Amino acid sequence: MAESVTAEPAGSESNPFVQAQKRLDKAADLINLDPGIYRILSTPYQELTVAVPVKMDDGSTRVFTGYRVQHSIARGPAKGGIRYSPEVSLDEVRALSAWMTWKCAVVNVPFGGGKGGIICDPRRMSHGELERLTRRYTANLLDIIGPERDVPAPDMNTGEQTMAWLMDTYSMHTRATTCAIVTGKPIGLGGSKGRREATGLGVAFTVRESLKHLGLPETGCKVVVQGSGNVGGLGALFLHEMGHQIIAISDMYGAIHNENGLDMPAVLEWLQEKRTLEGFPGAERIDNSQLLTLPCDVLVPAATENQITSQNAHAIQAKVIVEGANGPTSAAADAILEERGLFVAPDILANAGGVTVSYFEWVQDRMGYFWEEQVVFDRMERIMVDSFADVVKAAQKYKTSARIGAYCTAVERVAYCLNMRGIYA
Ligand code: NAD
Repeated sequence: MAESVTAEPAGSESNPFVQAQKRLDKAADLINLDPGIYRILSTPYQELTVAVPVKMDDGSTRVFTGYRVQHSIARGPAKGGIRYSPEVSLDEVRALSAWMTWKCAVVNVPFGGGKGGIICDPRRMSHGELERLTRRYTANLLDIIGPERDVPAPDMNTGEQTMAWLMDTYSMHTRATTCAIVTGKPIGLGGSKGRREATGLGVAFTVRESLKHLGLPETGCKVVVQGSGNVGGLGALFLHEMGHQIIAISDMYGAIHNENGLDMPAVLEWLQEKRTLEGFPGAERIDNSQLLTLPCDVLVPAATENQITSQNAHAIQAKVIVEGANGPTSAAADAILEERGLFVAPDILANAGGVTVSYFEWVQDRMGYFWEEQVVFDRMERIMVDSFADVVKAAQKYKTSARIGAYCTAVERVAYCLNMRGIYA
């Protein structure tokens, strides 16, 4: 039997594809997008649903459902992560793939947008089961992935090991070691220096640019971070190093709070060892919903989708929100935050440091020549700073929020390519 597919609350605030579409609609109106181009951009280019049979350790066979959606290949090969989670759904993968199209366009890297996912609970699977799952899923995708077609990467609950298996499976089939098939690989296997830190560091650069833009102090701010994984944990560490006070941080089980600031290196060490923030000394325990509404200067939602909604947007007390996660804010919440005058650095800009360094990884793999870490960080910083300026300029031009400014920037760039390429008939 196939694993059950999550029911879609079509049209609701919690359906991420509906949320992504609402932002596209707004930007399309503002830039007066051609209706034909709008139709193309509203429809994912290619979607594949695969049944992934896996022999489990106990000898039984289970069949998992996997997806790969390529939203657009107008600007280059599809690019985007693969997520393993019980909550994966086709609409989630569709939304994430569309966000990748816009994100790659905002930072002007020559990729389209894609995303993949498998409905599974990796915490309840062994190393061997995860390897077999990954290899069979990769084999199922062979016809649509490739360095010039679609380049996967890690996302929630996948990492360097997953990418190494994917790269090996693809290479065995093509009879050629093909490092550029994935990004987020181990450094010894064609990965890029700085990829692990890239998204969190990009978020920290975006916080800095946002504070500068708003004329707020660039150091000593009170910062709240939701999520303590690759993006939240490292983002918080870089913000701590930049002289801010991280007053609260969470994982999926809850949050820790200390008004005088947490010792971030100690928090990450604790997390590494204990796998939970619970029990971290010198901090009070609060839950994720309390964390989001704490008084602070900067809120960084860096966990998952749909955390700031019409239910809690009125209660947010931050001055600035910098979105580390993809889709943490609903379209309904956007309107409330905008009315309240909060500045939101949107996901497709704020967390684009990751895909920027993924682009660098793909370039290095194709050159067979690898860059020093500082070169990676400097080039990424330049792109993040320039992209922030492009987004603010578009927001001013169209008299809209930074989020819709980012969409206007991205949609214009993708529409340009679609127009120049024309429709093959
Ligand atoms: P991760 O798995 O390393 O960390 C996720 C964190 O969020 C963990 O602390 C986890 O406990 C917490 N979390 C998960 N579900 C939660 C829930 N329902 N409520 C509260 N907390 C929850 O993942 P990550 O790579 O840090 O990704 C986080 C977000 O950033 C995702 O939206 C992802 O798509 C996005 N993102 C990641 C990258 C990247 O390079 N890793 C790049 C761009 C965007």
